[in-house]
Amino acid sequence: MATLLNFGFTKPTSATPLKGNESEPDLNNNESHKSSIMRRTFNNRWLNEYSWLAFDDTTKSMRCKFCTKSKRSNPFGLNGSKNFQRSALERHQSSDDHRIATSNKKKSEVFSKTVNEKFEKTKPAVSAMFRTVAFMVEEDIADRKFEKLIDLQVRIQYISK
Ligand SMILES: [Zn+2]
Repeated sequence: MATLLNFGFTKPTSATPLKGNESEPDLNNNESHKSSIMRRTFNNRWLNEYSWLAFDDTTKSMRCKFCTKSKRSNPFGLNGSKNFQRSALERHQSSDDHRIATSNKKKSEVFSKTVNEKFEKTKPAVSAMFRTVAFMVEEDIADRKFEKLIDLQVRIQYISK
């Protein structure tokens, strides 16, 4: 028992190959096991390995950026996980919830890119409309002429696209 405790104390600082952690300790096991679980701390290197991972300093827990953003109801998306084990990260990464959140992120990236591109294209038309309205006010032109004026500009290719 004393050796296990010692092991628990030295573990967080040592660069232990984490492959051995794949078999998780049984939480319902004896006290010595429990204390060794408590000793686990966050490994900063995980931030480089898992692009979705974030460490919440206030709650001292691990979060998934994507799952948090898309409000997925898993430990990494809701309150943050304190299960500082590589296996927990691996499990989260391959979870359906996480995959959905990541694909949502990709979708929204594609969406905003498309919107921006479309907006760039329509900008000349939008500014032409504003110019037309300003012109109409200045020249005291009746509102009903607005469409006609726009039509005219489109016809003479003043508004491209
Ligand atoms: Zn996630």
